[in-house]
Amino acid sequence: MQDAAQVLRRVFGYDAFRGSQQEIIDHVVSGGDALVLMPTGGGKSLCYQIPALLRDGVGVVISPLIALMQDQVDALTALGVRAGFLNSSQSLEERRRVETAFRDGALDLLYLAPEGLSTGSAMRLLEQGRISLFAIDEAHCVSQWGHDFRPDYLALSVLHERWPDVPRIALTATATTRTRDEIATRLQLTDAHQFVSSFDRPNIQYRIVPKNEPRKQLLELLRAEHPGDAGIVYCLSRASVDKTAAFLVEQGIAALPYHAGLDARTRQRNQARFLREDGLVMVATIAFGMGIDKPDVRFVAHLDLPKSVEGYYQETGRAGRDGLPSTAWLAYGLADVVQQRKMIDSSEGDLAHRRGLAAHLDAMLALCETVQCRREQLLAYFGQTSQACGNCDTCLNPPQSWDGTIPAQKLLSTVLRLHRERGQSFGAGQSIDILLGRRTDKVVAHKHDELTVFGIGADLGDAEWRGIVRQLLAQGLLAVQGEYGTLTLTERSGAVLSRELPVMLRREPARTTTSRSRRKA
Ligand code: ADP
Ligand code: ZN
Repeated sequence: MQDAAQVLRRVFGYDAFRGSQQEIIDHVVSGGDALVLMPTGGGKSLCYQIPALLRDGVGVVISPLIALMQDQVDALTALGVRAGFLNSSQSLEERRRVETAFRDGALDLLYLAPEGLSTGSAMRLLEQGRISLFAIDEAHCVSQWGHDFRPDYLALSVLHERWPDVPRIALTATATTRTRDEIATRLQLTDAHQFVSSFDRPNIQYRIVPKNEPRKQLLELLRAEHPGDAGIVYCLSRASVDKTAAFLVEQGIAALPYHAGLDARTRQRNQARFLREDGLVMVATIAFGMGIDKPDVRFVAHLDLPKSVEGYYQETGRAGRDGLPSTAWLAYGLADVVQQRKMIDSSEGDLAHRRGLAAHLDAMLALCETVQCRREQLLAYFGQTSQACGNCDTCLNPPQSWDGTIPAQKLLSTVLRLHRERGQSFGAGQSIDILLGRRTDKVVAHKHDELTVFGIGADLGDAEWRGIVRQLLAQGLLAVQGEYGTLTLTERSGAVLSRELPVMLRREPARTTTSRSRRKA
């Protein structure tokens, strides 16, 4: 019989296992259950592919990425592995062929979409073959707390009930301790051995900058540090994907758009080009990237704030899979906070769901506003301790903090006065205009120039005030509400106004030059 190292060499053509691959493989080959947490690019696939080749029967892989099953199966077939998939995109004929191969034991691996399992027919099919193991990929999809919940994943606990002796291996690249516990409970994997790799991606340089003119800032980044490099630019909306891609093309950068509003053929073509050709920039919504295996993505840029730290980690994790220096760059501004709070307020779902979303956003904001090492904070979020990294913006260019209690009081009392004296609430822009003493049409129309706070903030500039609003929102000292994103006080605002609570703010460093941009320049 072959051993795992031989299969690694003969079938996959690699010399050595990475990280804890060998341990995991040995554990599953000998029939143990496993919960594997490994960052993107860590090499999760081999952890179930090799055991499937070594054990008797067919390895059944549950994967939510229907669009990528074909690619995975093609890649395996090219290596001489007998693999097939079943999902809703296939013709009846193709399905029959794969089903027959499964029954005959003529497959090493069968990829299934989770929705298939809630239908009786897939279960009946599975009963007719011999199963070597179950692999549950992207296992965080079972977590309602997580950012990627798929109801179909809840049904996966039946696998264990029906096939108690078949080993199961659940894999994910994104899991806080809380998500991890939820995966273990929901998939009945509480007794499984947990293999937790370090989530650190030391070659990725994390940078988060205040957003002024995002497209221009992006262009500067690409020209100064990543000319001719392949990269991904994430935008929140389809419209902004289209605009940004067009803008980059205008500026002579080879960029392609990708979002769910494009027809399937265009999407497929753009994705294929991005994977095959050198130096393309993919401008995309987060619909793009899950399961994309392109080793030389040199940068991931976010033009809008991700909804959670998990999402941010996963998206930035697509950079630098080859281990070479790469950049994770995020531009974020006040409008992001306002917009996301609005989206949460108007989201469907119960209070608990909205609270979950708000907690995700708060953690993301805390990462954006931190004066500590970004990496340290990011890893701490995943329950891993580390030290200041020396390769993020806050390490390379430490931001100073300053006592912002007085400006915070000025801002909060403006919001308070509008509410108390006028019974009104407005968005951030109006408060800032009032503080700056600007007689805009809207200020004059509402006679806000007659408020005692009018002009009391003229010692600071517009950008500084926006930064203050943003940071107070991030610290929960101020809130936005409703469709128009109006500012309101929070329970904690009072303590600032009464001087019980000093407010420390982050001073934005001047435009950063990093060690790498200096080197390249
Ligand atoms: P993940 O699913 O964890 O994101 P993959 O399984 O797609 O990662 O692996 C990422 C890349 O690393 C793939 O190109 C894979 O072929 C490669 N890889 C995995 N394990 C090894 C290894 N032991 N030696 C060399 N390359 C490996
Ligand atoms: Zn750092």
